[in-house]
Amino acid sequence: MVSLSYLRLLPPSLLLLGAAAAAAPQTPVDPQAVAAGIRSRAIGGASPAWDLVESLTTEIGARPAGSPAMERARDWALARMKALGFTNVHAESFAKPTAWVRGAESGTVVAPIERPLALIGLGGSVPTPPAGIDADVVVFSTLDELIAARAGSLTGRIALVNQPMTRTQDGSGYGAAVRARADGPSFAAERGAVAFLTRSVATGSTRAPHTGGTVYADGKPRIPAAALGIADAELLGRLAARGTPPRVHLVLESREIIAAPAWNIVGEIEGTDPAAGVIVVGGHLDSWDPGDGAVDDGAGVAITMAAARLVAELPVRPRHTIRVVAFGSEETGGSGDAYAAAHAGELVRIALAGESDLGSGRVLSLALPNGLAGSATARQLAIALAPLGIFVRSDPAADSGADFKPLAAAGVPIFQFRQDATFYFDIHHSADDTLDKVNRADLEQNVAAWAILLYLVGAAGDVAR
Ligand SMILES: [Zn+2]
Repeated sequence: MVSLSYLRLLPPSLLLLGAAAAAAPQTPVDPQAVAAGIRSRAIGGASPAWDLVESLTTEIGARPAGSPAMERARDWALARMKALGFTNVHAESFAKPTAWVRGAESGTVVAPIERPLALIGLGGSVPTPPAGIDADVVVFSTLDELIAARAGSLTGRIALVNQPMTRTQDGSGYGAAVRARADGPSFAAERGAVAFLTRSVATGSTRAPHTGGTVYADGKPRIPAAALGIADAELLGRLAARGTPPRVHLVLESREIIAAPAWNIVGEIEGTDPAAGVIVVGGHLDSWDPGDGAVDDGAGVAITMAAARLVAELPVRPRHTIRVVAFGSEETGGSGDAYAAAHAGELVRIALAGESDLGSGRVLSLALPNGLAGSATARQLAIALAPLGIFVRSDPAADSGADFKPLAAAGVPIFQFRQDATFYFDIHHSADDTLDKVNRADLEQNVAAWAILLYLVGAAGDVAR
């Protein structure tokens, strides 16, 4: 249960003037008046969210973990957090066993027609031999159809899974389709294939291919793997349907850096009650390499930093310390585990955690942990979020973002703002992930929602575990 009784009422005219803090009168606060002020400031463009994502994408751009750009992004985040008035700003370093680096890549249909292919290597893919691979392509309409193929049936061939991803508002089509990218190479290799191609796990219709990590199963041969543009996968499918397998020449270069340095960048808004614990939020600062990492996940970094900044501007400080983490290796893994390991001793002090990592699409609903279900804070949230078009769900939060999975597994309460992901997978992990895809009004609706959550939960007297 949650108590809001400590809140003090300020005249609305004073609620959002930081300079008024010293003169705060000792009358009860109306939390909804504070929330209304947060909404109008966030939506009125008073938050730094847009400037943050504009700066990150313009000045840094793509920033894969292990790259020089990620080092610049670390320094960018440290400088920005300090400039926004965060305290305890620091980088927590950890080592990635390996960091994957893309090299030159190309693919060409060489028979029965000649046609260049738009493709991109999957993260973690082994390279082809320098001269490339020439092989006939066997096309499967789903990963399950490939899995049903008998052992040895793909010997000397390239396997292509041409499985479309279904467009859904909640993004759930991704989970069904992404298995082809993640698990396809090992299933294909097991059946004799010399390389693996997947239709981009995406909903858009541009030619740009979408990358993402692949995972080789232990003990299975490792074969080169790439994603094709949707049109290119469909071309190979149409050629195969004519009865003669198309032949493809594939060149993928890549290398691995051993023991690559990486960082989680942390800043705080200090709470008034050390016993109240910490609310941890954040986004991931690293990105895939083809785009500028604007939507994935510059937006999430900007939303959470800006929301915490809006709370810091309130005359009433939160009881809980609010901690923002810019995670440094979500896409290729490691930053969530590193954070959980570094903070293993204080997990019981973390009252709530959640990551913004589904772009800047509007928030539609909020899922809370069981400990907040039916609480006074949940009711305040329902009232304060309704003007933003957001409802509080009756089902508990099940996903807090990849970087908080280890915390959630350790029992830390999680929340999730569920966003409109209808168009997110049109650009995700592709060269089209650029600033023009961030809708400023939607970004600011996200900031308003996150700031209201940080304010109301941060003010709550007893967030139950
Ligand atoms: Zn992401």
